[in-house]
Amino acid sequence: MNFDVIIIGSGIGGLVCANILAREGKRVCVLEKNKQFGGNLQTFVRDKLIFDSGVHYVGGLDKGQNLYKVFTYLGIMDQLHLERIDTNSFDGIIVGDDETVYPQAQGHENFIQQLLQYFPEEETALRSYCQKVKESCAAFPLYNLQIDGTLEQKTIASSISAKQTIEALTDDKKLQAVLAGNNILYAGDGAATPFHVHALIINSYIESSWKFIHGGSQIAKALVKQLRLYGGEILRHQKVTQLISEGDNIAYAETSTGEKFYAQQFISNISPVHTLQMTDNPLLKKIYRNRINNLPNTVSSFSINIVLHPQTLPYQSKNIYYHKEGYLWSANSYTAEDWPLLYGVFFTASNQYPGYAESVTILSNMRYEEVLPWADTFNTTLQETERGADYLAFKEQKAQQLLQQVYKKFPQLEAAIKKYYTITPLTYRDYIGSADGNMYGFAKDFENPLKTTLSTKTGVPNLFLTGQYLNMHGILGATLSGVLTAITVSGNDSIIEEIRNAD
Ligand SMILES: Cc1cc2nc3c(=O)[nH]c(=O)nc-3n(C[C@H](O)[C@H](O)[C@H](O)COP(=O)(O)OP(=O)(O)OC[C@H]3O[C@@H](n4cnc5c(N)ncnc54)[C@H](O)[C@@H]3O)c2cc1C
Repeated sequence: MNFDVIIIGSGIGGLVCANILAREGKRVCVLEKNKQFGGNLQTFVRDKLIFDSGVHYVGGLDKGQNLYKVFTYLGIMDQLHLERIDTNSFDGIIVGDDETVYPQAQGHENFIQQLLQYFPEEETALRSYCQKVKESCAAFPLYNLQIDGTLEQKTIASSISAKQTIEALTDDKKLQAVLAGNNILYAGDGAATPFHVHALIINSYIESSWKFIHGGSQIAKALVKQLRLYGGEILRHQKVTQLISEGDNIAYAETSTGEKFYAQQFISNISPVHTLQMTDNPLLKKIYRNRINNLPNTVSSFSINIVLHPQTLPYQSKNIYYHKEGYLWSANSYTAEDWPLLYGVFFTASNQYPGYAESVTILSNMRYEEVLPWADTFNTTLQETERGADYLAFKEQKAQQLLQQVYKKFPQLEAAIKKYYTITPLTYRDYIGSADGNMYGFAKDFENPLKTTLSTKTGVPNLFLTGQYLNMHGILGATLSGVLTAITVSGNDSIIEEIRNAD
């Protein structure tokens, strides 16, 4: 089969990129290894309830905001079923034994005013925080739907530590902990996380915060539908195993079924490490391969997806994040005994019983090394019984350890649980195809910003990268990455202007 562009992987970055290029008149084909399209956008059903795998909430979707404009340009905005979450507290932050749930609110002024109620002496710090967040976002033109920023501007902004910046704003340790209390959103690590990673993500939620009613897979479904309208193709159960070169260029992608897909250009929406393993093209120099192969990944996760008894737990239109006092920036260095040092709780509203939650997801961090005993098992179905009884026992022990922590803050949860299902780093590894089930691709490092920021281009003229491993992760980050790669591949800079003007 012969195409203009082959895209490997149907994560949101790949789907956005495919749509833009198909709109530009290219004959595009997306190859996806799984049955369900969307990567982290995938949902799964348990006890007739829909659970998300990697979309609990999304920012920037109010009219005129960045993600709203991209989705409007792509023609999917009016197909999405959204619920705006609590404007006065999209997130509630709990620090250690303190019983207060500190709000992070939508709207920059509202963000300040809501926290001033708890920190009346800290107006200067709160205003300065919002100012720094805005300045950091301004240094990343793509975030503002521009592409004319200088590398120097971005490098300077990426060299600033999130921990140090927040600590410099105020001596109030509680306020520091509240401002960064949802840092599992970017796998916060005090020794590495740049302030811009914090700023780009939190700013999009401050601008506006949304949940997808019936799950985030609707984004994938809408993008697949649009892609087909533009004449693009998308194929499931096509795992790319090799990228075969002829001369300097990649000539075709071969899949595990032995099929060959020829194209002029190839875009990889999967881990760059796996991408490089698929080709021995000599233009990918050893120094480039070594650099990519040695980049650290973000930590992985463990989650519990809970089916609730009806009408037992009130629905909260916000997410709750807990961390143990003093471990805000070091929660990934937990021990077997003190895990979990942090967790997030996400509620899904019941349609049948308004005011109540029908399900809850609890998310914590987990290092891949914990599941190494079962690393040679493989399973893409989420029905993980095949990994063995000791694995199931491990999952149950971890679930209980996490639940016991959560019950301390949500005592009513214990009796409300009907059933629960757990997800480990191995689940994500096999589901998404990453090496270690990492949550957000490569970990960024303020000490070495250039090393951890990848270009859409590789050494091979017709091989490009897209998705969360590049500039920024998250639905917004991977979408913007898809936009950037499409602009690079098409050579048409005016796409960004069209997106900016989409309303
Ligand atoms: C637990 C968790 C919670 C999250 N919560 C949120 C949230 O609330 N809000 C938010 O904005 N972001 C969230 N994220 C992050 C967000 O989901 C991701 O950053 C984003 O979806 C990544 O998109 P991507 O384009 O990089 O592709 P991915 O989602 O990584 O998809 C890659 C695709 O490539 C396919 N693939 C892999 N190998 C091959 C191959 N060889 N051949 C063919 N196909 C292949 C995979 O099957 C997959 O479909 C969360 C992530 C996790 C893990």
